[in-house]
Amino acid sequence: MIKYVPEMTSVVLEEIPDRVSLAVDISSCRGNCVGCHSPFLKLDIGEELTPAVIDRLVADNFGVNCFLFLGEGQDPETLLALAAHVRSIGLQVALYSGREEVEPAFWEAFDYLKLGPYRPECGPLNSPTTNQRLYKITDGKPEDITARFWRVPLSTPRYV
Ligand code: SF4
Repeated sequence: MIKYVPEMTSVVLEEIPDRVSLAVDISSCRGNCVGCHSPFLKLDIGEELTPAVIDRLVADNFGVNCFLFLGEGQDPETLLALAAHVRSIGLQVALYSGREEVEPAFWEAFDYLKLGPYRPECGPLNSPTTNQRLYKITDGKPEDITARFWRVPLSTPRYV
């Protein structure tokens, strides 16, 4: 099961370049980032995220063209199935993972992948010294687009 925190759901413009993303915070995070921005997301909290819930969230936020999973929880099979559902309704799908690397199925299931734990000494995505990377995946080929965050003065993304 994948759970999200309904009250944190929001439309974001900066987390995925050129996309209007509906972002959901996924709980039961298995990461261990030093300086974690949301330690409560390591807990088993929130409500189940299902295809029907995704449909409702998208319908309630007309105009979004990307669905962003902020975290991946601890049920990869369900997460991948939810990602496939997002694509089936015509949206792109993105994942902010705190892991250094993900399994091959993730590279196929997502159009955008952010990898790497948050390290305060390296800074967030909009810091040129960041250890984190955002990839755009087109026809199975990942392109590192992290530098997009460095070109224009952005406010700090909510999730880094
Ligand atoms: S991935 Fe996010 S929620 Fe999980 S430990 Fe890292 S900063 Fe915290």
